[in-house]
Amino acid sequence: GYFGGIGGASRKGILVKGANFLDAFLKVDTMIFDKTGTLTKGVFKVLDISTVNEFSKEELMEYAALAEAHSNHPIAKSIKQFVTETFGELPKISIVEQEELKGHGIKSVMGDNTLVHVGNKRLLEREGIISNQSDIETDDDSWVHVAINGKYAGYFVVSDEIKGEASKVIKLLKKLGIKKVIMLTGDEEKNSAKVASELGIDRYYSNLLPEDKLQILDDYMAKTPGKVAYVGDGINDAPVITRADIGIAMGALGSDAAIESSDIVLMDDKLIKLPESLDVANRTRQIVI
Ligand code: ADP
Ligand code: MG
Repeated sequence: GYFGGIGGASRKGILVKGANFLDAFLKVDTMIFDKTGTLTKGVFKVLDISTVNEFSKEELMEYAALAEAHSNHPIAKSIKQFVTETFGELPKISIVEQEELKGHGIKSVMGDNTLVHVGNKRLLEREGIISNQSDIETDDDSWVHVAINGKYAGYFVVSDEIKGEASKVIKLLKKLGIKKVIMLTGDEEKNSAKVASELGIDRYYSNLLPEDKLQILDDYMAKTPGKVAYVGDGINDAPVITRADIGIAMGALGSDAAIESSDIVLMDDKLIKLPESLDVANRTRQIVI
């Protein structure tokens, strides 16, 4: 019975690591989702760009793209694509040093000695470029801020889309017995609130660092009577996937670390695989009994 269940799951592109996880999956009452790349497509587009102080749009674009040169973050990819499309290629200044600050952004030093920061308000505050996060406005879309030589230079407005089936999947999960659906994200408050309300998420937490995600997961595991599943893309949440009662990684292109750390792997980024897995688990149990 179990064997058949796992076989049935794998034919659907759902990789389950051991029969006990199908059973544990049925005890899940709280399902926690990462936002970017899990509930949303994780493919950002630059919609607008705005400069302040003496900086030109060209400078902002060139330095931001270079600063992000070695980053695989979806926001970095969108900026590099936008700049390449505008100029035909990336500008040719060498990069001397580049540091990715998780949940914040990028800090780079260019060959011409320019220091460039690209990231969220939290990054600029942490680096002492702005003194208070409220010094800079944001609206519903995500704003990616740029500072050049420690001076605020402007921002890109980037936007990600909610996956088409996300809302339906959350309704299905609730029908299948999941009591609470939670969203965790490093993104800022306004955009997170918008996504959560569009999807009917019970509770969301924004502005999180990777360690905050672990803490919140622990709290839910301690207080909920059932088991807690965490669903992420595994790009920077492998530790949370590992720690969860049931860790679920999405996307065949998820990192090896994510695949190793997870109990269930969904081989593509289709959320519908989640209710399908629950369904397989249910039917498998019926066969076993
Ligand atoms: P999530 O929890 O939504 O997956 P991340 O932890 O990957 O988000 O990132 C949180 C936030 O940090 C992003 O919304 C963005 O503001 C900022 N950030 C992270 N990496 C980068 C980067 N390479 N370039 C610009 N901003 C970044
Ligand atoms: Mg992420």
